[in-house]
Amino acid sequence: MYRKTWMEIDLDAIASNVRFIKEYSGKKLIAVLKADAYGCGDIQIANTVIEAGADMIAVSSIDEALMLRNEGYQGNILILGCTYKEDVPLLIEQRISVTAFSEQWVEDICSTHCQNLKIHLKVETGMNRIGFQNQEDLIHAKEMLLKNGCILEGIFTHFACADTSPQMTNAQFERFQDTYMALNYPFEWIHCDNSDATLSFSEQLSNACRVGISLYGISSVTNKLTPALSLYSSIFMLKTVKPNQTIGYGATYTTKENEIIATIPIGYADGLTRANQNRHVYVDGNNAQIVGRICMDQTLLKLKYPVPIGTIVEIFGKHISLEEMAKDLNTIPYEIICLISGRVTRVYRKNGIIAFETNERLIKSTL
Ligand SMILES: *Cc1c(COP(=O)(O)O)cnc(C)c1O
Repeated sequence: MYRKTWMEIDLDAIASNVRFIKEYSGKKLIAVLKADAYGCGDIQIANTVIEAGADMIAVSSIDEALMLRNEGYQGNILILGCTYKEDVPLLIEQRISVTAFSEQWVEDICSTHCQNLKIHLKVETGMNRIGFQNQEDLIHAKEMLLKNGCILEGIFTHFACADTSPQMTNAQFERFQDTYMALNYPFEWIHCDNSDATLSFSEQLSNACRVGISLYGISSVTNKLTPALSLYSSIFMLKTVKPNQTIGYGATYTTKENEIIATIPIGYADGLTRANQNRHVYVDGNNAQIVGRICMDQTLLKLKYPVPIGTIVEIFGKHISLEEMAKDLNTIPYEIICLISGRVTRVYRKNGIIAFETNERLIKSTL
């Protein structure tokens, strides 16, 4: 690492979360590693979760599936989002499973040579994003896909309010169950539970859970997981600013007295959004306020007392949880971690020690 701004990813914690979730649910585990594994590095997380017992990786697009293949992952992959008929030969060659989400999609796919394409049927039950809206269409799609030699590998749905409404989740589940019964087909993969549903909603129909955020120890329904993520920077300049001076662009903060102001090399281009202004970070056992506007590459902090240059600053981690930060920012932990840009070095902990680091904009390096 050159610039001392990094996200630390504890692979031991992730492995232990995989084992916990599998044991808790008693089901196969599909690890949802879309968006570069929520910003944590797709191949690193894929290797970790597979080693810990995950049974399949899900991603959002063909691009993400091919990235994993390019990086050497050879196991099961499911694309949860859209795919296109032009890509069918590649999807078959690469043994990538896809989601059938509408009649139109099935017609398009069946107009190509789609023999051996592996399919999971997506059932609309209340999210109204993608999926078949009625059983007749689904039965017709199933027959068409089978006639054309596709492999009907799975069936699934997605809950809209797993964290907030057990009633809605239950209603969605019942629609899913009805549809599953109506199709009367021996699917190998039956899945409906995201992280929050897996950890709070109990059902016996599905044989796999489909989890993303809980892999990192983040959950609004349980505290039995192990947090895996922290974001750090470090002080590279420290000074005392006289009273009545302004700090940063727009002069939005004015010192009231002699104030100790530290500069850290992280900004909104790293994913520390400008909405973090006035929030706090953790420095040397204390909270320190972010003062003035967050710049593209630098951020200013007000400290209670001077600390040495190089002192580590925790933006989230052991002392400031992602859940707390998300609440302050009126968002969700998912968004915060996905926004941490490729400029930030990822440092991986394994077997209790810092094992390696990556920076996608530098050469992949090993310590
Ligand atoms: C992202 C996603 C998941 C994972 O959700 P988490 O809340 O992170 O567990 C599961 N299923 C689908 C369809 C998704 O898009």
